[in-house]
Amino acid sequence: MGFEFTEEQRMIREMVKKLVTEKIAPRAAEIDESNDFPYDIKEAFVENGLLKMGLPEEYGGIGANVATICMVMEEVSKVSFTAASLFFSVHLIIDLLFSVGNKEQKKKYFGLLSRGDKIAAMAVTEPNVGSDLSSMRTRAVLIGDNYILNGTKCFISLGGVADLYGVYASTSPEKRTRGLSAFIVERETSGFSIGKIENPMGMRGSASSEIILEDVKVPKEDLLGKEGDGFSILVNSLNVERLWFASMALGTSQGALDYATQYAKERVQFGKPIAEFQGIQFMLADMAIQVEVGRSILYDAASQIDRGVEDGGLKSAIAKCFITDAAMKVTTDAVQVLGGYGYMKEYPVERMMRDAKATQIAAGTNQIQRVLIARSLLGK
Ligand SMILES: Cc1cc2nc3c(=O)[nH]c(=O)nc-3n(C[C@H](O)[C@H](O)[C@H](O)COP(=O)(O)OP(=O)(O)OC[C@H]3O[C@@H](n4cnc5c(N)ncnc54)[C@H](O)[C@@H]3O)c2cc1C
Repeated sequence: MGFEFTEEQRMIREMVKKLVTEKIAPRAAEIDESNDFPYDIKEAFVENGLLKMGLPEEYGGIGANVATICMVMEEVSKVSFTAASLFFSVHLIIDLLFSVGNKEQKKKYFGLLSRGDKIAAMAVTEPNVGSDLSSMRTRAVLIGDNYILNGTKCFISLGGVADLYGVYASTSPEKRTRGLSAFIVERETSGFSIGKIENPMGMRGSASSEIILEDVKVPKEDLLGKEGDGFSILVNSLNVERLWFASMALGTSQGALDYATQYAKERVQFGKPIAEFQGIQFMLADMAIQVEVGRSILYDAASQIDRGVEDGGLKSAIAKCFITDAAMKVTTDAVQVLGGYGYMKEYPVERMMRDAKATQIAAGTNQIQRVLIARSLLGK
């Protein structure tokens, strides 16, 4: 506990705040309305080196740790959840390569990402495979020097626009989760295509899509770890992903709280600002409690990962559950504070409420987080 940002982290946050105010805030509602991927925001991120922050210095990054990435995502999500997802996805691949990539894979893919203009996506979910990964249907068969991948993935964030994908497939279906393997796949690979682009409730503009793999030839050098390591690779990757998702939920909550607080000071009913009614004050106070507690839990869990402390993902699951459930409550209450206006698209809080809902489902639903927490408590 007692986490504090360093001077460098504070400087990064100021840079991100400026970018958010100037480039992202004016576009957030349009991105949501159109569901079009925001290439202009991507360019702004590229110009500011954000898409390579997590890379080692020799590849043009600053080796940003888990807490720093959380901080950037929290800042961006205060105004646009979708813009934060763009920053998030490329760092998932960087984290994956850091954790399990061998020397050659790091050289090849850190090199590819070093210009800071690439987008990545993580492809796990399938139409019939969500929480239960043991029944994954995407297959990878080693023929000669290549794995041949076949299958369909769905709901893949940034899937429609990414350059690089982390793809999970089964190399030994009879071994269930122990038969899963992880691969890096480039978009240009023959047989790889983008299916339906989704029309989601929230996180709109994030090019959520199906990925179709038809005899996709992946060189065996692009297998991460060994055959059958996929499940443990995914579990470790999810420990970080959950915190990054939680940081997006936290930013969304803070954005909604800030908006609702300001609105309450300005909206006059019964001859005075509604902020003077205790019913509204208590609602705002409860929102602030959820945000502050969530922030403490988040950075405590992030710094634990950065210090290399192992707990089997317990803190990460607790943080994901608490902060994303809180985001749903805080954003719903923000709509309530704005009354009828809160329900209308002219105001950002209804968008924040829709975005918050995504955080309770993606990166492992909150029911699955509770299963993990209970297992840890019961020593299973
Ligand atoms: C906005 C968004 C972004 C996403 N991005 C990605 C992405 O980039 N890459 C990717 O691979 N996937 C992505 N997903 C998919 C996401 O990971 C899955 O939706 C999630 O894992 C749940 O799977 P499912 O939708 O098949 O639900 P199911 O697994 O079918 O679950 C349905 C319901 O049953 C509950 N349930 C299931 N099993 C249990 C259990 N054992 N105990 C109690 N309850 C249970 C669930 O909690 C849920 O409420 C995204 C989803 C969303 C909404």
